[in-house]
Amino acid sequence: MIIEKIEIGKINVPLITPFKTALRTVESVEDIVIIIKTNTGHSGFGEAPPTAVITGDTHDSIIGAITLIGKQLIGKNIEDFNTLINIVHRTIIKNTSAKAAVEIALYDLFAQSMNRPLYKVLGGGPSQLKTDLTISVDSVEKMVADSLKAIEVGFDQLKIKVGKNITEDIFRIKSIYDAVGPNIKLRLDANQGWSVKESLYAIKKIEEYGIVLDFVEQPVKASDIDGMIKITSEVLSPILADESIFSPKDAIEVITRKAADIVNIKLMKTGGISNALKIINICEIYDIPCMIGCMLEAGISVTAAAHLAAAKSSIITRIDLDGPALCSENPLDGGIIMNGSKIILSNKPGLGITNITGFELIKDIK
Ligand code: MG
Repeated sequence: MIIEKIEIGKINVPLITPFKTALRTVESVEDIVIIIKTNTGHSGFGEAPPTAVITGDTHDSIIGAITLIGKQLIGKNIEDFNTLINIVHRTIIKNTSAKAAVEIALYDLFAQSMNRPLYKVLGGGPSQLKTDLTISVDSVEKMVADSLKAIEVGFDQLKIKVGKNITEDIFRIKSIYDAVGPNIKLRLDANQGWSVKESLYAIKKIEEYGIVLDFVEQPVKASDIDGMIKITSEVLSPILADESIFSPKDAIEVITRKAADIVNIKLMKTGGISNALKIINICEIYDIPCMIGCMLEAGISVTAAAHLAAAKSSIITRIDLDGPALCSENPLDGGIIMNGSKIILSNKPGLGITNITGFELIKDIK
């Protein structure tokens, strides 16, 4: 299976409702998609969203990095898989979203070359998962209504975005909890929007109300590891590190300094599956549970994340793969099927994706 051609293009999928966090507001998923084609007629698919405020990656930077890496991959054999992964990471530093897109397509082809679905190549696991759903920051009334709507379609885990105003944030959580009741798991994501003092005040206040949070995600700035340590040590609610952990080295630092109780793995931060596997191994060694998350992604990269989560379900105990559930349409033929909170994996080889509707070619590398 020799790599002959790499197509780089774009997809545009409108969101059902605008996605609002402490950092940004987004109306549609506009992701870079790559298709790696081989001499045997196989296609490997990959995807990368431009999440400038988190990863530093833009459309143009992703295309540039994929082009640089892609040129090194033409003519190489999928059988030399480790060499290909080394090329992805040694050709350019940072640019984790572009690396993730390329890696996902390579893992897709590697599993196809074995005629097995990716999660089985990664060791096997359940073919069905359950994700939470994100509730965007908005007026309290809108957030309560969105939460109730989510429960109606089968979600029992909600990730509430907060982080704009501490008093309002506490009121948001209290109001949603009062509306949905104690049987719905509430996760809270501040997206670095709080200070250390605000975090301690808000979390303790919420705990005083008797609300048991599944976790509080990234309350303070990604680089404020000392702040994360203080919060983790002083509150009962588990603290989850998201933006603080990109690389396996970051995971070692956060875990050994006790700056979080849970680690959020996203392929767009790690630069793909190979580094995600290293972080999973580190977490396993230190007995730290993981969540798998996603950016605003359509379905290709989320399919890859779901296969990884299935194969590592003993350590990835929380799933936050709601990107496709926020999209108004599904551009994929094949891949995961999402039905309410259920994610069903395909048993076709690789990621099981055969076509992307609305793929607009930007350039190809031969
Ligand atoms: Mg987050």
